[in-house]
Amino acid sequence: MTEPKMDLTKEQSPPRYLVDKFRKDDKIDGRRKTSFEEYHNGQFGALKETDAEVYGLIKKEYQRLQNNIELLAAENQCSPAVLAALGSVVQNKTAEGFPGARFHGGCEVIDDVERLAIDRAKEAFGTRYANVQPHSGTGANHIVITAVLEAGDKILGLSSEQGGHYSHGDAVSLTGRFFDVENYYLDKKTFLLDYDAIRDKAVKVKPKLIICGASAYVRTIDFKKFRAIADEVGAYLLADISHISGLVMAGAHPSPVEYAHFITTSTYKPGGPRGGLILMGKEYDKNIKIQGKDMPLWKRIEDTTFPGVQGTPYLNHIAAKAVFFKEMLSDEYRNRQFKIIENAKKLAAVLADLGLDVLTKGTDNHMVLINAGNSRQGLTGVTAQKCLEECGITVDKMRLPYDEKAPAITSGIRLGTPIVTRNGMGTEQMQSIARLIDAVLKRVEIISETEYRINSSFREQVKAEVAGLCDSFAMR
Ligand SMILES: *Cc1c(COP(=O)(O)O)cnc(C)c1O
Repeated sequence: MTEPKMDLTKEQSPPRYLVDKFRKDDKIDGRRKTSFEEYHNGQFGALKETDAEVYGLIKKEYQRLQNNIELLAAENQCSPAVLAALGSVVQNKTAEGFPGARFHGGCEVIDDVERLAIDRAKEAFGTRYANVQPHSGTGANHIVITAVLEAGDKILGLSSEQGGHYSHGDAVSLTGRFFDVENYYLDKKTFLLDYDAIRDKAVKVKPKLIICGASAYVRTIDFKKFRAIADEVGAYLLADISHISGLVMAGAHPSPVEYAHFITTSTYKPGGPRGGLILMGKEYDKNIKIQGKDMPLWKRIEDTTFPGVQGTPYLNHIAAKAVFFKEMLSDEYRNRQFKIIENAKKLAAVLADLGLDVLTKGTDNHMVLINAGNSRQGLTGVTAQKCLEECGITVDKMRLPYDEKAPAITSGIRLGTPIVTRNGMGTEQMQSIARLIDAVLKRVEIISETEYRINSSFREQVKAEVAGLCDSFAMR
């Protein structure tokens, strides 16, 4: 009796690109083990075959990035090495817990991956403790906040209407729903942090946690002053350095490591993979008494990370963070952080010379804030963003301190120099870009708060200049 042949092709056929490949290689069954390189190099072939639609969209996004000047403060561009780690088999690993203490099997390799990421993060930032598991900067804040506070405890943070992040206690965030939140505000005339006013507010409201750090603040943050205020009222200090962590790491902005109990950052803003990071300095093993338990702060942070706020960590992101922290430690990365600031200062200076209203008349970091309405009668943040985008220059509309426009309209725009600097642009190109921005904002015909018209031959002229810059300073 011969056994009936089973037709496996119906349900279990291997991807077409593999079958074709093995046919060519004369090893036809499609189950041969592929080499590591072969497996990962087939990725885009597999994607194209499985889903031409998503493949097409990713390609379109790649082309968009190649052909526009990305002047974004909240974005960066990671290296191909980081991308490779993100797209690797490490993504398959489920590993609840921390290195050496996992709830799942088969973790010895990824334990080494996570330990490497931790060691490099500590080295890069000069900290005693690093937690590389947070899925995002927002998540890192949720972890710290829920680690040290009980429901109903008080947070003092910068208002989200003035550059604070919503994860610092905004009403729309869980941090605003489950904790008692008080805000401090920027000085109405200078748009700077007013440390005396923050101190007075802290003394008055007695927060258990003070949060500093912002998404839209162009000047240096004095972490030492924040710590003195926190000590005076017996509060923990969280420094959220999401926007400036690259600058901090390189020494281009003062570091909070000596002052803050906790430091959080997103990992994509300084140029790594999407994700978050929690750091602690010398007080990492200080005791905290919470929920009837006594434990060191680092342990409380880990218990709150998992299972408190998150489930399984994203090991592919952790591998990519390890790669990124290694890049951070290079001279190229450190030097670039100073160039980012130099470029932002140049951009701000030229724009101010051309008559635009640059907030605080300049910048200390990677970011430039512009009051569009004060720069051009009737211009709003959203119109400025849209007309610049049409000309190939990507910026964010931004609510400015004491902004009277609705969040969807806004008075301002926020520019940032991390991406253009990464692609090799310098102060000469900043001058050209500032002139293009000024030309577009002067030329645009304003119809309403959200509508505008732009002369098409003028637009094509700007786009041609943008294309020239993009060709000379391509994505790297
Ligand atoms: C961007 C940002 C975050 C959020 O990071 P995500 O990874 O996007 O969640 C948190 N805090 C500040 C100050 C930020 O600017």
